[in-house]
Amino acid sequence: MAEKAKKAASSKGLLQSEELYRYILETSVYPREPEHLKEIRDVTADHPRAMMSTAPDAGQLMAMLLKLVNAKKTIEIGVFTGYSLLLTALTIPEDGQIMAIDVNRETYEIGLPVIKKAGVDHKINFIESEALSVLDQLLKDSENEGSFDYAFVDADKVNYWNYHERLMKLLKGGTVAMSEEQVPDHLRGGRQATLDLNRSLADDPRIQLSHVPLGDGITICWRIF
Ligand code: SAM
Repeated sequence: MAEKAKKAASSKGLLQSEELYRYILETSVYPREPEHLKEIRDVTADHPRAMMSTAPDAGQLMAMLLKLVNAKKTIEIGVFTGYSLLLTALTIPEDGQIMAIDVNRETYEIGLPVIKKAGVDHKINFIESEALSVLDQLLKDSENEGSFDYAFVDADKVNYWNYHERLMKLLKGGTVAMSEEQVPDHLRGGRQATLDLNRSLADDPRIQLSHVPLGDGITICWRIF
């Protein structure tokens, strides 16, 4: 990988140790980073705002989250040259869809040839716009409510709360914490089975249990007896 791209991705982050950060990048991140993501870093490296790209170590965590929640339909606010967008497109299934919103098409077009080369552009619907108006438009159609599996917001900080409020409606939520009356009929069977399962798992002394509040809930069971 080009040295300039490595430099662009360099940051101490929370570690406050350049050596430890480089160790993590060189040991766990760069060897597993898909070639086309390296290429996006290369084509971005000379951009004066290259540091806006998602860092590859953050990308590795994002890919894991996308897999953990089985994300298929996602929304991204803040595309820039497309590092997180390509990462998402490479991670979700072949028939997955990403609604990608950015006010700036020019920067999206810097990474677009690489996205096309990676063969995942069919998963992307790029919208050149202020994100808030797109979200408001989506919310005019009730079919869009609860229809997204995952959202990544990486744009103008002053609007994060506005995005949050809208994404709360657009993202899927689980039914286990709803009151009985709120649960649509077709989800009642699955909800009851999930409630019973979770109660039984909590009572099972053979496992170490961690109920992770990701997506619609992820339960990790470790057999200890
Ligand atoms: N996720 C990107 C990546 O991995 O390369 C980095 C995104 S960068 C931090 C922020 C982006 O948000 C910029 O490309 C900018 O044009 C876009 N942006 C800023 N305000 C916006 C808004 N109100 N609506 C949509 N996009 C916006």
